[in-house]
Amino acid sequence: MLSLQSFLDDLYDRYRDLNEGRLASYIPELAKADKGCFGISVVTTDGRCFEAGEVHQPFTIQSISKVFAYGLALEDHGRDELFEKVGVEPTGDPFNSLIRLDEDSKRPFNPMINAGAIATTSLIDGTDPTDKLNRLLAMFEGYLGHNVVIDMSTFMSERSTGHRNRAMAHLMLNFDMIGHDINSALDLYFQQCSVMVDCHDLATMAATLANQGVQPVTKVQAISGDYVRDLLSVMYTCGMYNRAGEWAYRVGIPAKSGVSGGIIAVVPGKAGIATFSPLIDANGNSIRGLRVFEELSQAYGLHLFDLSMGRCVFTKALE
Ligand code: GLN
Repeated sequence: MLSLQSFLDDLYDRYRDLNEGRLASYIPELAKADKGCFGISVVTTDGRCFEAGEVHQPFTIQSISKVFAYGLALEDHGRDELFEKVGVEPTGDPFNSLIRLDEDSKRPFNPMINAGAIATTSLIDGTDPTDKLNRLLAMFEGYLGHNVVIDMSTFMSERSTGHRNRAMAHLMLNFDMIGHDINSALDLYFQQCSVMVDCHDLATMAATLANQGVQPVTKVQAISGDYVRDLLSVMYTCGMYNRAGEWAYRVGIPAKSGVSGGIIAVVPGKAGIATFSPLIDANGNSIRGLRVFEELSQAYGLHLFDLSMGRCVFTKALE
């Protein structure tokens, strides 16, 4: 069998010319992305990396931020209180759907869809909007091991065009699912989506989750180990929008995607894996990324329920 590095190089070569899909354009700034950009990164729980392609090209994190903001809200409020406010049920609907908010539920379905993410972010503690933002940025820095920058153009682009997210916040306010200061909550949500990362950063963040919340290089505890299972559970059931079921079936590891083209996935105890390619499908998932993960899962027996290979093939490949 090829070494993991050669396998990643081969995946990069085979999929770099796959030009299916489109750039997200409902946030105008995202439509400026380079369609050809493509990276694959694996970071182990002891900080080693195996990478191919443009792993240092910066982009905005978008929905992948929802996982980490959920972690901060869990630390601020605890499992029971947060569960009262944001559920953990997959919807099978698009990530920006409003439909299920107008039912007699008392909370958004889960923190990985926009409604649940806006409600989650609205719960982040802080004395004022700046304090909340600083706490959010400090949280991201814990995972990344370096300073975090927000892309102002993307933030402003989404802030001025995000009418659907604004409508969701108003609907949630109407149903008392969210506090009154929805403009600050939306700003904070748009800011968290505009945090700049690269593919290597994403794999490091995923590796931190694989490592019970301890950043593999800096050894900083980025999130309390107690809550990692909560994040991985909602990633597994809800992380890939309305493709979450098919992903769980075909790839079988907790994951999260974002419309800018990133995907992260966690192999608990072993590694974080990330791909970046901005061409997305109708569900908002990166097409090259989906193919890469299906092949990696198949080749290395990553599926959590694939007991035939266990995790030993992957463990050997990481040696
Ligand atoms: N900022 C985007 C939005 O709220 C994030 C969506 C996504 O990545 N799926 O619409």
